[in-house]
Amino acid sequence: MRTKLIAGNWKMHGSKSFIETLMNGMTGQLNAAMKSDVLVCPPTIYIPLVKNLIGDKAIAVGGQDLSEQEQGAYTGEISGDMLKDNGCQYVIVGHSERRSLYCETDILVAHKTGKAIECGLTPILCVGETLEQREKGTTMQVVEQQLDAVIDTLGIDAFANIVVAYEPVWAIGTGVTASPDQAQEVHSAIRAHLRNKSAQVAESIKILYGGSMKAANAEELLAQPDIDGGLIGGASLKADEFIAICNIAG
Ligand code: 13P
Repeated sequence: MRTKLIAGNWKMHGSKSFIETLMNGMTGQLNAAMKSDVLVCPPTIYIPLVKNLIGDKAIAVGGQDLSEQEQGAYTGEISGDMLKDNGCQYVIVGHSERRSLYCETDILVAHKTGKAIECGLTPILCVGETLEQREKGTTMQVVEQQLDAVIDTLGIDAFANIVVAYEPVWAIGTGVTASPDQAQEVHSAIRAHLRNKSAQVAESIKILYGGSMKAANAEELLAQPDIDGGLIGGASLKADEFIAICNIAG
């Protein structure tokens, strides 16, 4: 049985005062008996503040990106060691916004994924197709190519330390969610693709869904057999909404 993971990706949102209110709202409502894992990924500069506000509550913290380099003259970059040093357990890798707006290639994403694992972080490897690719019928081709870059670079066993997030690009920030059936179809195909290489990895790996997930649609999505949690953007910036999704996950 895979433990569900509910992860908030705050993207480039927030301020000290906004985050104080958000975190106080979340920690105040968090159900201590909850079985699912809860994670927030703030903008890097606010990670120490968020850690402080979490105190002893069971909320993990993650980065939104990391450098594929270890250290050195890479102005503006943040290393995996720095995230780890500031209490992060996870890091999002290869989000579609990084792939499309910052030209991150499949191979760069694979190197970032490897660096995260080396640093003792759990990478949340994002994959997903654009609307155009879905309409052309190439969804699984695109997703498998994104996965294969990591499999070929790091080997299948690396996936024992990876969380995959399926985020159809057309569902991100659009209010259009993949239907539970559409999401389940891709999640189960991702698991089958991994099963071809390792049955053990396929059974244990968490595959999160991301794309306009909110309290109103989380129940149906999280009830699907191959959906092991959510990577939530907009709805993770509202304490009530995010905690409601955590409660639905159980
Ligand atoms: P939204 O939930 O705002 O659609 O964002 C999803 C996402 O990109 C999470 O990484």
